[in-house]
Amino acid sequence: MTLPRRSRPLVLAAICTSAAFLSTASAGTLPPPADQQLARELLKQLIGINTTHAHGSTDAAKLIQARLIQGGFAAADVIFIAPPEHPHKGNVIVRYRGKRAAAKPVLFLGHLDVVEARPEDWSVDPFALTEKDGYFYGRGTVDMKNGDAALAASLLRLKRDRFVPERDVIIAFTADEEAGGDANGPAFLLREHRELIDAALVINLDGAGGNLKDGVPLYFEIGTSEKTYLTYTAETTSPGGHGSLPGPDNAIYRLAAALGRLAAYKFPVMLTATTRASFDALAKLEPGPASTDMHAVAQSPPDLAAAERLSQNVRNNALLRTTCVATLISGGHAENALPQRSRATIQCRMMPGDTESNVQAQLIRVLDDAAVRLSLDAQPIVSPESAPTPQITKTVADLAHSMWPGVPLVPSMATGFSDDRQTRNAGIPSYDVSGVWMDVNENRAHGRDERIGVKAFDESVEFTYRLIKTMGREQ
Ligand SMILES: [Zn+2]
Repeated sequence: MTLPRRSRPLVLAAICTSAAFLSTASAGTLPPPADQQLARELLKQLIGINTTHAHGSTDAAKLIQARLIQGGFAAADVIFIAPPEHPHKGNVIVRYRGKRAAAKPVLFLGHLDVVEARPEDWSVDPFALTEKDGYFYGRGTVDMKNGDAALAASLLRLKRDRFVPERDVIIAFTADEEAGGDANGPAFLLREHRELIDAALVINLDGAGGNLKDGVPLYFEIGTSEKTYLTYTAETTSPGGHGSLPGPDNAIYRLAAALGRLAAYKFPVMLTATTRASFDALAKLEPGPASTDMHAVAQSPPDLAAAERLSQNVRNNALLRTTCVATLISGGHAENALPQRSRATIQCRMMPGDTESNVQAQLIRVLDDAAVRLSLDAQPIVSPESAPTPQITKTVADLAHSMWPGVPLVPSMATGFSDDRQTRNAGIPSYDVSGVWMDVNENRAHGRDERIGVKAFDESVEFTYRLIKTMGREQ
């Protein structure tokens, strides 16, 4: 996922913790030693393969394919596939066949690519798994080779256990999720080979998970939606001329003034089924003024004054409205010449349910200058919300409680995008579910010294095993 991995309201200062759901690495939450070892070995191998854009994901896909066939999967059920024009952007699709071929399968997603990591910026080698101080370090340890290793290890364990699901379970290990890719796996597969991955439901391990504060578990997320990525270019021109003869018409000033108006603007508050449920749930967790505001915002209509107070926090603000921000700017062509052109990039994250035309209309109104030409850089991949249905919520809650009794389940909307947008856009309800617990203040995805707790990894492997089994059994 492009940052941030989890968009949790960051005002969870004081927490009411009931001892009931304190998580300790009890025997019940760890995989059998041999499977724990297998998962760690797979993680080590995957971290050791550089799958940044330039390198691609083919080597990692081939590794998983070989391990699964060695582990007893039929070659026909473990398909390696890459776009002909991008052979290094490989995907591997595994089909774990169920009793009822007619039942629509469940699809699990895990992307194999990682963002860049400059070794000189890290304290350890980003492309070699390092265990230190109770953590595994390496590029992809939380985004998301940990999930890929957990999926592959669970498949091998299920095969060894001779587990037969009710419906087919498909696991797609894919290419190019991270921003800037040219061969996104799910998009390619949905476009060219939908029969390989078509499903009733998608479970994506690239998001959600458990939230800790100072080691104490707060709540467990199920990701149901994400904001839509939308980028515009705003451009102004002016006649230019000799730098010693400045006049009133200046492309840079004009654009700067318009951007100043955008900086002061806030899109209207907008709640979705997920954010309403999320604020409502977090209000119960959070004693104090923020709790009152969260509760008030979750009402219909939402209390706008409460929303403004909550919006003082950038994450809450991003959860409450569409946002647009200037991220790049350029202007002028010579130091001693008046500018003829100025250009800015306006990067928006649109709430589910909002529309591109609505966002564009508001931008034009706010920039408030007919001389500012606004153009959409690319058609957005709109990501409709996958409703947090009682069935999926109960399934995930029961599963989480089988390992971490009593932990509150909170639906969440991500402010960053993921491959869910591809599958949701293709009409398949898609949910982020991961067994990784992480501290609310720890977010090293895409950053330096990316890491995952050793205990957190081991527990997530056990959780993933149970998740596949549970989703495979669903009718
Ligand atoms: Zn990711």
